Amino acid sequence: MDSSNQERILIKGAHVLTQDDRLGDFVGDVLVADGRIAAVGESVDADGAQVVDGTGHAVLPGFIDTHRHAWQGALRGLGPAWTYPEYREHVQIRLGPHLEPEDVRIGNTAADLMALDAGITTIRDESHIMNSPDHADAAVQAHWDSGIRCVFDHGWPSTEAESWQFGSGRLHPPDIRRVRESLLPDDSARVTLNAMLRGPELATMDVARQDIALARELGLRISMHVGLGEWGARQQAIRQLDEAGLLGPDMTFIHCCTSTDDELRRIAEHGASASVAAALEVFMPGLGQPATNRLLAAGVRPSLSVDVESAVAGDMFGVMRAALAYQQLVRAGAGGPLDRADAAITTFDARDLLAFATIEGARACGIDDRTGSLTPGKEADLIMIRLTDPNLLPATDIPAAIVTSGHAGNVSLVLVAGRTVKADGVLRGADTIAEQAARSRDRVHRAAMRSAVRPSVGRAGAGVGASS
Ligand SMILES: [Zn+2]
Repeated sequence: MDSSNQERILIKGAHVLTQDDRLGDFVGDVLVADGRIAAVGESVDADGAQVVDGTGHAVLPGFIDTHRHAWQGALRGLGPAWTYPEYREHVQIRLGPHLEPEDVRIGNTAADLMALDAGITTIRDESHIMNSPDHADAAVQAHWDSGIRCVFDHGWPSTEAESWQFGSGRLHPPDIRRVRESLLPDDSARVTLNAMLRGPELATMDVARQDIALARELGLRISMHVGLGEWGARQQAIRQLDEAGLLGPDMTFIHCCTSTDDELRRIAEHGASASVAAALEVFMPGLGQPATNRLLAAGVRPSLSVDVESAVAGDMFGVMRAALAYQQLVRAGAGGPLDRADAAITTFDARDLLAFATIEGARACGIDDRTGSLTPGKEADLIMIRLTDPNLLPATDIPAAIVTSGHAGNVSLVLVAGRTVKADGVLRGADTIAEQAARSRDRVHRAAMRSAVRPSVGRAGAGVGASS
């Protein structure tokens, strides 16, 4: 298959799950032309288009991961049983200072390729590895090169990590202005810029106010980690923002695990959005529990996210399953302390989860005008899932089959903006990444180890924070 975005592809006879309420689901055809969804319907004809047999397949918009720290792509799977403090100690504090720009490029590439292979066509990269301008450049370059759609959220450094979080008095790194002006000025491009801010939970209210003003001056949407464990419960960042007149529809709140129900209603009232990292939150004690039920009860349809691959798998199938598994605990009366027995219990099913993982993700990123559903005119970010595979057949209820049993191996075709990145089940461009990732991992760990032993061998002037 040609990889240019000028190709015309006609998928025939598939189960089309459009994620557009007006178009619904049907058995039929999807035409891709000039990088866009040109037509969908029960029967579409197009002379000269390359025909793909969609029989026995589901076609849906690519998944949208609304929060991943992609730089940890080569640090994958290190600590599935970590607590939140252990994760911070191992990754942010011990390894983070030692990533060179090339390590960030490799980590992001590994994350993107993994994501594309599993049908994630958009990743919102929460990049808190902005150790230098070169790190920012390398991070962005990886997303251009991989072919994924990326909302790049410029964050803070992982050097002196402690000083940047939990009540920090440091202002957002000013390099975000250069990134905006010279690297990512175009909001219609495949890679666009957002601001990953700390808000009045990870930073002081004064810093939050100045950072938000900077992001809005630069015309950037904002993401914020809030409701993190007991600290988040005490800060009530969303309430603080609302009372300061700063809460707006340009904000996505990530986690919200210990945000109050009142705060979640304020998200709905202001048209802001939320990202639930369901798998990470159930695997990593210390953050609190997934807020899916409480968000829905408050009137917010959430998006879904992976968060860190150093602890959990990077595909959306697992995230959807984790969100549902935790919801079933809530329904059984076995949820966390905020999911009280007297709270409103919402229900959601596999169709809702697919919507959370697609169109709601696009809305949370402010890109639903160009992706998130198979609406004609949108850019062609779509995937095909082979329903005849042994783990999915006979796919009696297609969304339920995908949510309960789907995996990356079932994803046979992936297009981003009409460009083929995976075809016939084979991902393109992944030839050398395993070797690069292993080299990067070894280099980062060696550097961290050298730094850690330095004080104990008594070398003058080599403090804990010094890196080589
Ligand atoms: Zn995160």
